[in-house]
Amino acid sequence: MYTLIDGKNIAAQMRLQIKRGVDAYRQKYNREIGLAVVMAGDNPASQVYVRNKIKACEEVGINSANYCYPEIISQTELEKHIKNLVADDGYDGILVQLPLPAHINATEVLKLIPAEKDVDGFSAENIGKLCAGEESIVACTPNGVMKMLEHCNINVAGKRAVVVGRSNIVGKPMAMLLLNASATVTVCHSKTENLREECLNADILVAAIGKAKFITADMVKKGAIVIDVGMNRDENGKLCGDVDFENVKEKCSFITPVPGGVGPMTITMLMYNTLQAAVLRR
Ligand code: NDP
Repeated sequence: MYTLIDGKNIAAQMRLQIKRGVDAYRQKYNREIGLAVVMAGDNPASQVYVRNKIKACEEVGINSANYCYPEIISQTELEKHIKNLVADDGYDGILVQLPLPAHINATEVLKLIPAEKDVDGFSAENIGKLCAGEESIVACTPNGVMKMLEHCNINVAGKRAVVVGRSNIVGKPMAMLLLNASATVTVCHSKTENLREECLNADILVAAIGKAKFITADMVKKGAIVIDVGMNRDENGKLCGDVDFENVKEKCSFITPVPGGVGPMTITMLMYNTLQAAVLRR
C-alpha cells in the first residue's frame, strides 16, 4: 500500500500559514509586501505561470505588479527597468519569468537582482549560502519538495537519496537540500552509467528529468519514496510526470502524483520566499 502525497492539500495548508505571516508582517511593520513579476514577450506558457503567480499573491495578501514588456525589448532597456524595480523600496521580491526572448542575455538580467530580492533563489549568493548551509532564499521547486517530505513526517537523515537531473533550478539545489538534511545523496544525469542500478539504491528517488514516464517500475526499490518533479505531455497530450505512475505506485511507500503533486508547491514556495525576503529585509 502506498500513500499519495497530496501536493494540492499541503500547498493549501501552507498558503493559509503564509497568509497569516503576511498579515502579521503588515501589522508589525505597517506596510505591504510587494512582488514585481517581469516578463518579456508573449510566451503562452509564461502567461499562464504569471497569471497563477499573481492569483496566488492575491490569495495570501501580497501586493503584486506584473510588468509585461514587448518581445522586441532591447537588453539595455530591460536592464534599465529591472534596475528601477530593484531600487523600488515597495518591492521585496523581483521575479523574472523565464524564458526571456532569445536575443536577451538572461544571465546578465538575473544578475541585476540582489540576493535579498531574489525570490527564485537563483542568484549565486543564494546558491552559495545554500551550499554553505546558511539561511538563504531557496529555489521554489526543491524547497517545496522538502516541505512535502516534512509534511509527511519523512525523516530524510541517513536515507539514500537519488536525484535524477542536475539542473540549476531543480536537480542541484534538490541534492544540496537533501544533503543538508543529512541524506546520503547521489545525483544522476544523462551521462550516468547504470542509471537503473543507481535508482534501485534509492530510499528517496527524485525525478527531475523532463521525459514522460521515464522512471519505470524496474528502477524503483520496494518501499521507496518517489517524488516526481516532471511536467510533461504523454502520447495523448495529457499532463504527466517523469515517473510511470500507474506501474510504479504499488512499489512505493509514498509517491507524488502529476498533476497535483510537486506542481502546486512551487508557486506556494514563491509566496513563502517573498514573505521570507520581506522579513529578512527588516
Ligand atoms: P532540465 O532540462 O534543465 O534538466 C533535465 C535534467 O535531466 C538534466 O540534468 C539532464 O542531464 C537529465 N536527463 C535528461 N535525460 C536523461 C536521461 N536519459 N537519463 C538521466 N538523466 C537525464 O530540466 P529542469 O530541471 O528544468 O526540469 C525537469 C523537469 O521538471 C521538467 O519536466 C520540468 O517541466 C519540470 N519542472 C517542474 C516544476 C514544477 O513546479 N513541478 C518546476 C520546474 C521544472 P544532463 O544535465 O546531463 O543533460
